[in-house]
Amino acid sequence: MDYNKLANLLFPQIKKTPEDYEAIYPPRDLPEGAKVTRLGPSPTGFIHLGNLYGAFADERLAHQSGGVFYLRIEDTDDKREVQGAVPAVINALHHFGVNFDEGATLTGETGDYGPYYQSQRGEIYQCFAKKLVAMGLAYPCFMTEDEIQAIRDQQEKDKLNPGIYGEYARHRDLSFEEVVERISQGQEYVVRFRSQGDPERHFSVEDGIRGVLSMPENDQDVVILKKTGIPTYHFAHVVDDHLMRTTHVLRGEEWLSSLPIHVALFEALGWEPPVYCHTTVLMKMDGETKRKLSKRKDPELSLEYYKKEGYHPAGVREYLMTILNSNFEEWRIANPEAPIEAFAFSTDKMSNSGTLFDLDKLNDVCKDVLARMTAEEILFYMLNWAREYQPALAELMAANDEKMLRIFSIDRGGEKPRKDLIYCRQIFHFISYFFDDHFIIEGSYPENVSWRDAKEILNRYFQTYDPNDDQDQWFEKVRTITADLGYAVKPKDFKKNPDQYKGHVGHVSNVIRMAITGRTMSPDLWEIQQIMGLEQVRGRIAQAFQDIG
Ligand code: GLU
Repeated sequence: MDYNKLANLLFPQIKKTPEDYEAIYPPRDLPEGAKVTRLGPSPTGFIHLGNLYGAFADERLAHQSGGVFYLRIEDTDDKREVQGAVPAVINALHHFGVNFDEGATLTGETGDYGPYYQSQRGEIYQCFAKKLVAMGLAYPCFMTEDEIQAIRDQQEKDKLNPGIYGEYARHRDLSFEEVVERISQGQEYVVRFRSQGDPERHFSVEDGIRGVLSMPENDQDVVILKKTGIPTYHFAHVVDDHLMRTTHVLRGEEWLSSLPIHVALFEALGWEPPVYCHTTVLMKMDGETKRKLSKRKDPELSLEYYKKEGYHPAGVREYLMTILNSNFEEWRIANPEAPIEAFAFSTDKMSNSGTLFDLDKLNDVCKDVLARMTAEEILFYMLNWAREYQPALAELMAANDEKMLRIFSIDRGGEKPRKDLIYCRQIFHFISYFFDDHFIIEGSYPENVSWRDAKEILNRYFQTYDPNDDQDQWFEKVRTITADLGYAVKPKDFKKNPDQYKGHVGHVSNVIRMAITGRTMSPDLWEIQQIMGLEQVRGRIAQAFQDIG
């Protein structure tokens, strides 16, 4: 068979040669060791935590090595395509601090290795498919859906591997005349890879995360070009990753089983494969069992969830790094102030069995990250979030910016900063009692304080509260009320002799705290009142006095 003749028959329109493309997309001029990574999303519109997890790893690998991170849109399946999906990916990742150097952008694309939309690279794929046909390593296959289904059914019955391989690859060896004949009859065809592999033989390949893997050779004559001339994922990414000079391919473990196909395609084309790094799926605990995060059941899988709740991107990044690299937390303890970029991220510290995603842990990490920020940074972030998701709150906060800064400054800085701010929605709830329109009673008054005493405590407090008192003077007054009403000034005295007192200073303070904040727990009450000012404090006390009845 003259394969060149066959190649020209199938691809008469392809004039460029593989060498032409090698010249158009030369090896990149980058420093030794620089890594080139890419994100290759299909524009389905759903961007999830797994995408961010992978993108962050890609971004780190490229940028910490002086390399390039680019965005390639894998839009060969127009059935799944969703309008606006590309800006959604770019914006969502940008929000979390992941930016591309090259590839698809909001307004088009940038970079010398484009086009970066697979749908615009048809001729390139066809050129390399033509090359494979010319080498006898690909062929047209005219089998119909029905024929393929019948093969599949038979294989299932005989408990054989499914697919088109060996004797099932019926059109592997059609003669040139037969191909001409079928084409002239208008029969449609796909182009299949003519596999040289034997699954009885194993080959080894080094995965960047999993180490050396031994896998059976591929014997499947996979489709490389569909009937429409559009490539499959297998073929498109091989051609693209080669021509875009990708050095590391990070992708989900669902691709691991097709790695032998990809390695065989690289080999057939005479190219060095990139380092494949297969990440694990994100799991969560559901009761006692570990399961995959699911789009349907787990809103926290969607990146939109974190934006809506107002998680600070730095917190999400920090958390993702803790699950990306097992040595990150240790590094963070040793380098509490260092920017996250100073951490040396590496693929071999990535987990190779189900990564556990834990929202509580994310919240803890966010508390730490927010505790390291200034009050100004937190206010700025809260305002941006509120403008998008809670415009009325944005107005309220902007009109009270001085007050907000003082609120966020409570116990900030210093050796042991408070760690109670997590994400915007929670933060606003946490501080809502500072604003009369948002003040609600959430806690309950201490049970051992009678209503009469509670009223008396509030009455005396109202009479004696002076915003000019310093913290000690203020507390001295609380102590006086405590003692006068028969409560222990020291909690330990009450614990020792519970019969001698009605309660202790903590109970009395909590009556005041409930009146002022509506809660039994709050940051320092003296400071809260300093921020509120005399009028608001008195208003709260008077209101509580009335409510108690
Ligand atoms: N388009 C593929 C997907 O969305 C990308 C896989 C890869 O990164 O190679 O799953």
